[in-house]
Amino acid sequence: MAEPLALGIDIGGTGVKLGLVDRNGRISSLRKMPTPKGVPAIQAAEAIAEEASKLVGAVQASRLTGVGVGVAGDIDSQAGVVRMSPNLGWRQVPIRRLLANALGRPVLVENDANVAAWAAFRVEAKARVRNLLCVTLGTGIGGGIVVDGRLYRGATGTAGEIGHTTLDPNGHPCACGNRGCLERYVGARAMSEEARRAIKGGEKSQIAKLVKGDLSKIEPLIVQRAARQGDRLAKRLWKDAGERLGISLASMVNVLNPDWIVLSGGLSRAGGLLLDPVRRMIKERSFQAPARAVKLVISRLDQDLGTVGAALLAHDSFN
Ligand SMILES: [Zn+2]
Repeated sequence: MAEPLALGIDIGGTGVKLGLVDRNGRISSLRKMPTPKGVPAIQAAEAIAEEASKLVGAVQASRLTGVGVGVAGDIDSQAGVVRMSPNLGWRQVPIRRLLANALGRPVLVENDANVAAWAAFRVEAKARVRNLLCVTLGTGIGGGIVVDGRLYRGATGTAGEIGHTTLDPNGHPCACGNRGCLERYVGARAMSEEARRAIKGGEKSQIAKLVKGDLSKIEPLIVQRAARQGDRLAKRLWKDAGERLGISLASMVNVLNPDWIVLSGGLSRAGGLLLDPVRRMIKERSFQAPARAVKLVISRLDQDLGTVGAALLAHDSFN
């Protein structure tokens, strides 16, 4: 019999990725589309279902285990409802029912960082470690937790939101309603904003040269390049980002005592620029035993973590 496949759908703020994935996390076909914007959620879901049906239609019905969906936002996975997604502008969207009706297949819905954590656990850790924290460093910061080999969702499915833990009690307001959240200080958006502010404030930096004076073009990759050239501002921005992230992770190390912390997303590609200060903070701020035990891992799946994790969760749930 042909190997079973599941469809994984990763719905992010800018793009949607859909992939057919086997039980080992290998993608056999992948489709991408821009996230439908400026339309009611029902229409957006219909557009995603249409794209999904192209993949589903190409697979023998008996071979398709089910559909897993990861969505950026606060998800009620039991009800299959997106409670709130600031990036998508969705509120109380019954995405599971909409997709299940359109595709005629069992569908599950999870937070995007939770499915990423599941992929990190199943594919990258090969389930050899039992406790893992996965942190996605994109525009914002997401987190997913695997405890004792199971995805940890918490009381309302919200668990793992490390991006919305408080770093500065009097800090910048955050879209979540709190102020001083970690993701206001670490992440692609935060880093670019800080670089712009410093340069506008008169600080000399290679960054301005690399974007030829167009400060709107600043992004972490540019700051990374400037740091490698020895630029002082760029080096400081990475050090600050690493220390802030490291302070939060040090708390997580004491709370969760994970075997692994898996980092993914654009910022994680900066290697030592980010990881060195993260490691230093964990060493300085966590208990010795868990700090020594924890392994920091950069995700190899990276951009595909969400799609693969959503599909693997479907494999593991609908079996
Ligand atoms: Zn927040």
